[in-house]
Amino acid sequence: MSSLAAVRTALKSSDSEHATYLTSLIDSGKIAPSKTNPGSKTRQLFGPLDADFPRLGKRISLFDADRIPTKQELQELCLRDLKATREHFNDRLVNFAPSRAAEDATATDEGDPTLNLITNINKDRESSSQGISQAIAFQSESLQNICIEGAEKPDNVLHTSMTACIVLPHNNLLPLQHSNEGITTTTLLSGSIVWIIWPPTHHNLSILQTFYESLAEDTDDSVPDVSRDLEGGIAFLQNEGESLRFPPFCPMMNLAIKTSVLATSSTVTATAYIAILRRLPLLKSWFKTEVNGDQKQSEFNSAMLKTLDKMLNGEIDPATKELNVSHKLPLTPNDGPLHALLSSWDDAKGDVAAILSTADKKVVKDIWASFLIREKGRECKICGKVIRNKMKLMRQHFVDVHWPMEEKGKGKNKGEGRVDSMEVGGDELSGHGDEDAMEIE
Ligand SMILES: [Zn+2]
Repeated sequence: MSSLAAVRTALKSSDSEHATYLTSLIDSGKIAPSKTNPGSKTRQLFGPLDADFPRLGKRISLFDADRIPTKQELQELCLRDLKATREHFNDRLVNFAPSRAAEDATATDEGDPTLNLITNINKDRESSSQGISQAIAFQSESLQNICIEGAEKPDNVLHTSMTACIVLPHNNLLPLQHSNEGITTTTLLSGSIVWIIWPPTHHNLSILQTFYESLAEDTDDSVPDVSRDLEGGIAFLQNEGESLRFPPFCPMMNLAIKTSVLATSSTVTATAYIAILRRLPLLKSWFKTEVNGDQKQSEFNSAMLKTLDKMLNGEIDPATKELNVSHKLPLTPNDGPLHALLSSWDDAKGDVAAILSTADKKVVKDIWASFLIREKGRECKICGKVIRNKMKLMRQHFVDVHWPMEEKGKGKNKGEGRVDSMEVGGDELSGHGDEDAMEIE
């Protein structure tokens, strides 16, 4: 059965109000099956590399086949890890897709909907899950402990998130949004999910950005339907035991055909970091649609700067207080992530400056100045200009040539919610609701 036929069958069996909509998207003829030949147009839209195309199967699983928990074990594991998360976070749950969902999953008269949802993992029929409308996500130490190292690890890994457990109620729709800035691997431990994933093309991401902006402004409930305008989508059904891996920033939607449990982890690479810089305007619009978006943006910014510092300069080892340069990217003449960062910085600098607070802007200049001064040779590693007295003049050269013009006097305004951004938040990049779930520490 082709993936589209399986999707149609699954949607037909669903009593979700969203199933008709997803079927109509597939009927539009703009959605391809997930198995397409390497030369197909759809595949090319995703990108030239194999890793650019979403992959579904058992070989990329986070788990050995004989270590996948049974439904009973899953239920116990969810209850245990959820309890630990709640104790740590005073019952403030982190949601899979908080933007359009209710904020507080615990405040209803119907008992604890989260616990009701977990109880449903073990049931064949889903009738009792009515009224449970909210997906939950929490960091799962138990799942982390039984995960295996991915067989095909990408190069230049900056960070891999801890494994999160995501529980989706039967009929839960993940509305249109981008996948986070990492390469995501998600294994379906229980249930059944229909996915549609589109390539992160310029066309698609500008539609998505406009969509986020209209969501952020919207005061009534009418959400514009832009999914039909996206190009190159693929649809498939993810069954129990199957893992799905997809690249950063793919627009996507999914519908849980049954109550579903996913184990999810994502990895940010140095190569992807450059792409993140180019997608800052999209992320800025996304944060406006999020609950506590300002805070999430500021945490994201601080993680972004911390990562930049680590890539360019290394980091201070908290134990020895000495500079550990093992994460610093090697400078290779014609390729590699540092070369890419240096050669695309001038194009990205405006977008970087546009999302940063005054204090953060100073941090960026410090990070770059420190790198440019420490590197061997007298030339600026970004543009090649020879700077005779690097200690004295390099920082100013960076500000003059490699940083956008700033309004005079703005730097003296200390009032605007300044925080020492390097101190805020975790040490990972997170631009996204579901990524937040992996960021609990
Ligand atoms: Zn320069």
